[in-house]
Amino acid sequence: QLSERLMRVAAHVPADSIVADIGSDHAYLPCYLVLTGKARRAVAGEVVKGPYESARKQVRQEQLESQIKVRLASGLDAVEQADGITAVTIAGMGGPLIRSILDAGAERLVGVERLILQPNVHAKAIREWAQENGWAIAEEEILKENDKIYEILVLEPATHPISFSPRELLMGPNLIEEFSSVFQEKWQRECSQWKKIVEAIDNAAETAETTEKKKELLEKIKLVEEVLQGEN
Ligand code: SAM
Repeated sequence: QLSERLMRVAAHVPADSIVADIGSDHAYLPCYLVLTGKARRAVAGEVVKGPYESARKQVRQEQLESQIKVRLASGLDAVEQADGITAVTIAGMGGPLIRSILDAGAERLVGVERLILQPNVHAKAIREWAQENGWAIAEEEILKENDKIYEILVLEPATHPISFSPRELLMGPNLIEEFSSVFQEKWQRECSQWKKIVEAIDNAAETAETTEKKKELLEKIKLVEEVLQGEN
């Protein structure tokens, strides 16, 4: 049984896909996708030996070796042209790491129709990457599981240039629009974290670095509070 988080990632994978799951760990996601018939075939990529072995074991146990290739490789190096990958999933890592994987393997995304990305933190890094590299946000989702809040970003090749506003980059255009209770909770939590840091800065000796950090935090708090208060 997949976690709710991975179930929601799986829900965004189109039917009949050929999927590359990068940073697959136990390969639970590709196994689920192939077992449920959602994916025809899959590649599970892992850069660390331990998780790679876990993935191989899981695929063997499920008797899916002919449909799922497990590869020890960094990021999109796990993908070969002959795989004919149509969808890429990258889940459970920070946004900046996901971005660096996409940056490093840009040429391996040719022919890919959909990226389903689930950053644990800093989804902004992915929206920036999308904007700079010709991908549009097709869907966004936010969910809470075990008191943790996760975002899922679904990207597809853009048909026209995209330019997000600062609030859209930070909080997600579709998520702002939807304005769900989980979304509001996430940003209330973030704001109170930031306010605590600002308070700590105010109580410590001032340096050029802390002054800059405080300015940055106050700008983010303002931006987020405007959205939460429904200001345009
Ligand atoms: N995707 C699974 C999930 O969402 O439950 C596993 C997430 S786990 C926290 C992150 C995995 O990504 C780890 O197993 C780690 O070894 C792997 N990883 C980190 N950087 C990677 C990279 N550059 N290429 C491939 N895998 C990577």
